[in-house]
Amino acid sequence: MAGNLTLDALKLAAAEGRIDTVLACIVDMQGRLMGKRFHVQHFLTSAHEETHCCNYLLATDLEMYTVAGYAATSWAGGYGDYVMKPDLSTLRLVPWLEGTAMVLCDVQDHHTHADVPHSPRALLKTQVARLDALGLTAMMATELEFFLFARSFDEIRKSGFRDLEPISAYNEDYHILATTKEEHVMRPLRNHLYAAGIPVENTKGEAEAGQEELNIRYADALTCADYHSIAKHAVKEIAWQHGHGVTFLPKWHKDRTGSSAHVHQSLWTKDGKPAFFDASKPHGMSDLMRQYMAGLIKYAPDYTYFLAPYINSYKRFQKGTFAPTRMVWSIDNRTAGFRLCGEDTKGVRVECRIGGSDLNPYLALAVQIAAGLRGIEEKLDLAPAMTGDLYEAQKTPQIPRNLRDALSALNASSMLREAFGDKVVDHYLRAGEWEQEEFDRVVTDYEIARGFERA
Ligand code: ADP
Repeated sequence: MAGNLTLDALKLAAAEGRIDTVLACIVDMQGRLMGKRFHVQHFLTSAHEETHCCNYLLATDLEMYTVAGYAATSWAGGYGDYVMKPDLSTLRLVPWLEGTAMVLCDVQDHHTHADVPHSPRALLKTQVARLDALGLTAMMATELEFFLFARSFDEIRKSGFRDLEPISAYNEDYHILATTKEEHVMRPLRNHLYAAGIPVENTKGEAEAGQEELNIRYADALTCADYHSIAKHAVKEIAWQHGHGVTFLPKWHKDRTGSSAHVHQSLWTKDGKPAFFDASKPHGMSDLMRQYMAGLIKYAPDYTYFLAPYINSYKRFQKGTFAPTRMVWSIDNRTAGFRLCGEDTKGVRVECRIGGSDLNPYLALAVQIAAGLRGIEEKLDLAPAMTGDLYEAQKTPQIPRNLRDALSALNASSMLREAFGDKVVDHYLRAGEWEQEEFDRVVTDYEIARGFERA
């Protein structure tokens, strides 16, 4: 697509004065872009080969705190450097920033130049390689939901995040009138992303006041995760440029619908045939698809942490909100954790609806591929599809109710320990435990208001 750059095209753009800055970015555990802004000439002279960053970037929390308890890095280890190795196939224009290009980097060991196993991109590449060895490619799409606010990030922060007012006054699901009023943000978002080589399909109003959804065309898993990270970053920057705040918190208000990041997935053969499709089978689902889906469902508790990594993530799983509560599958039914889409067509695929808008796409896709692969290896049987209002599907497995439960399931997961190795699982376990520990220390407004006088 226009917007993707080769190194030669970057050289030309630099010579013609069109590009002066290159962002070299890694993706951190939280899914954020972290890195440096290079003068284009330095990037072309040397940084396109490699640059460096402090290894605490894959051991911090959202606050950039130096969290204790990681085996991979610590004060005792001196917080040394990782190599940032630009993946030049991701070099692209950043049309919403003047004179700027961007490249995503792999994170490598300083001495061996091997990928750092707990870096999100490496985790996904490992699972993609397992599929590749079977002659399969995962085609994935993540939907990005978020809320747009009337005031700017700065104003909202200065007001203590109180009295948050979404940009629109009413539920704007599929609403053309309400979303017309948001086009000063959403139109540049679509067009800038497209011009950056990210194949935007559409944006639409979602099921709350001020809630938006951005859809990007499916792609191979690594490309899909790259698109997601860049698009999420762009949403924040472009909203900021227009004086608005935006949030990807899954649940910013108890009475408002939450924001999700549904993951559509299908497996294809190397020659581009949909391996999930078999016209002769019920719903057009191949045996491979049934096994993959059975793995996704069986191991959902093991990997829920990666779809819901914070305390707030679990507030979203509420009845009657379009966010699922049950780990069951159903045909085109939005009350299930797993929804079959494209029934009886070549586009037959499964949509996992568990993930919140705060997920890290590399981790979320990696763990789902690992679960699906295990289903294929175990030749699992898929239970019959369920129907009706699945919030009421008693006696079916529930999504872990909170971060603590999800972390216990992660800790006990032999499937993930075999797919990623103990060190990687323990690294993310520590990240999750830290979120819980920090929250447990805090006295919330809720506790004060409830108990101050009456307790
Ligand atoms: P919804 O019913 O959730 O609105 P859409 O038709 O908007 O579904 O599609 C959602 C996403 O699914 C899009 O990003 C699209 O690119 C993706 N998608 C379509 N076909 C496939 C496929 N075969 N495999 C994976 N993703 C797909």
